[in-house]
Amino acid sequence: MIKADFVIVGAGLTGSTIARILTDSGQDVIILDRKDHLAGNVYDYRHESGAMIHKYGPHYFRCGSDKIWNFLNRFTEFYNWSATIRSKVGDEYLNWPVNQDYIEKIAGKDWEVFKGEPSNFEEACLAKMPRQLYELFIKGYTEKQWGVNAEDLDKELAVRITINKSNVNTLTPNHKWNALPRNGYTQMVKNVIGDIPLKLEFDYLQHKGSVVANKMLIFTGPVDEFFGYKYGKLKYRGQNRRIEHLPDTEQHQPCIQVNYPNIEDPRIRTIEWKHLMHSDEKDKVKGTLLTHETPFTPETSASFEYPFPDKKNKNLYEQYKSEAEKLDDVLICGRLGEYRYYDMDQAIGRAMKLASEIMEKFEIPASVEYA
Ligand SMILES: Cc1cc2nc3c(=O)[nH]c(=O)nc-3n(C[C@H](O)[C@H](O)[C@H](O)COP(=O)(O)OP(=O)(O)OC[C@H]3O[C@@H](n4cnc5c(N)ncnc54)[C@H](O)[C@@H]3O)c2cc1C
Repeated sequence: MIKADFVIVGAGLTGSTIARILTDSGQDVIILDRKDHLAGNVYDYRHESGAMIHKYGPHYFRCGSDKIWNFLNRFTEFYNWSATIRSKVGDEYLNWPVNQDYIEKIAGKDWEVFKGEPSNFEEACLAKMPRQLYELFIKGYTEKQWGVNAEDLDKELAVRITINKSNVNTLTPNHKWNALPRNGYTQMVKNVIGDIPLKLEFDYLQHKGSVVANKMLIFTGPVDEFFGYKYGKLKYRGQNRRIEHLPDTEQHQPCIQVNYPNIEDPRIRTIEWKHLMHSDEKDKVKGTLLTHETPFTPETSASFEYPFPDKKNKNLYEQYKSEAEKLDDVLICGRLGEYRYYDMDQAIGRAMKLASEIMEKFEIPASVEYA
């Protein structure tokens, strides 16, 4: 029998942050995860080539909150690092996001803007950029990513598409910190968990009967699975990843990530891992290591990555959410529990907020200030 006051299902950023905050306040906590490793979706490891690789896709950390930054700095050192992305258009590697100068170069100053209230992703894009730009960089990429026409996607998805106003060519120039943990994300999460009891390769839903949470169960897995898919399955997109080691090549591409907006190429992007390694370690890599990513619609949760942005899935999630809200001693949260894409800093910020709500509910005095 597994027993604790707080049973936390999931050793990713959400579960480990909540576990750490409750433990810091003297609570009895256990973490369970069905994977054979901790860190969930941010898991990274050293490939035999010497390169540090992120198993579930590249993770670029950025953050604007002192509270989140200070919390993480208890567990890891960071080095400054900003992601630079290029899109391969023809034979050229063009900056992504594009900047104002490039827009003027391809469309002049007076391009035709979409007028009226956008009703879908394509229209929302055309309300903020010239059609030439949309077709060169976004349409093909987006249709490959989601496997449907851009007109069938929610307009909210366009919010994440930015145009750099200045001529800075990094992905997120406006965040206070763009950085990576010195010894990787797995080590960072390992340090967050510290000596909190952790059981890996344990599927909570398969062994519910042998788990007792005296105060609360905090579940960070897929919400539809928790409820036995009673209303149907939520749809996700994922990526097939093909790792390629080029032992005799020093450098394959100009930056960490190259996108392929061309619809003819089934790949969506290629990652060259050396570009995100600390300068002390990069030179130890034998050749270079790449991951080629091709989108698909996964059936099993190990490959669930992006919640599908359409009304059908939004409504389905709302049904599960209202079921979840009826449970007094269960909290379903995190990217899979809330069927929502959270950047890492957002996931940690959300977990910190939820932890303080749990402490309020159970009248647990905070013994560590997170400021
Ligand atoms: C492809 C991709 C790229 C990303 N890149 C970035 C980036 O560049 N920058 C950024 O800031 N963010 C990025 N993110 C977001 C980041 O991955 C998330 O913010 C973060 O992983 C959320 O953590 P989580 O704990 O909520 O979920 P997860 O890490 O998925 O943790 C959930 C855990 O619960 C476990 N679990 C589920 N069900 C059960 C069960 N029944 N029993 C036991 N265990 C269970 C799972 O095994 C998993 O370990 C990216 C996300 C994706 C999908």
